Amino acid sequence: MMLRKTLKVIWASPNTLLGSLLGLVGILFGGKAQFARGAFEYHSGLVAWLLRRFPNNVCAMTLGHSIIGIDKESLEAARDHEHVHVRQYERWGLFFIPAYFLSSAYMKYKGKNPYYDNHFEVEAYRIAAVNLRRNSTNSKEARCENLGLIDGEANES
Ligand SMILES: [Zn+2]
Repeated sequence: MMLRKTLKVIWASPNTLLGSLLGLVGILFGGKAQFARGAFEYHSGLVAWLLRRFPNNVCAMTLGHSIIGIDKESLEAARDHEHVHVRQYERWGLFFIPAYFLSSAYMKYKGKNPYYDNHFEVEAYRIAAVNLRRNSTNSKEARCENLGLIDGEANES
């Protein structure tokens, strides 16, 4: 079992490296780092600035075993969701990012929401069945909140 886990961590490591490079550069611009549940987490400063510019209320993003979030509270709110993505990276490795974008492109082509209908997001929202929303449209103040169990309105965008 230990070997299996190690292989998954190695398989996902190019993505982890990318996320941690981003996180470490973020630290030079006011960011902070922590380690939780087997993943590196980076928040505040540059990574927060970056995430607040993403559409769809993104408040955290996973790259392998690295997770970037707006702030400590956002990372806590989103942790269960982001760890579904960690498991997806362990399965898909280098193919995760292309597969993610292909899924989004396909959903857009079908007239669906490229984020909420993305195969990987559907799985993450199903397993970690809570709504995550940024609580403000003000890009300086927005952070992530866990709005509780999904009540069928998660697909409204
Ligand atoms: Zn997600």
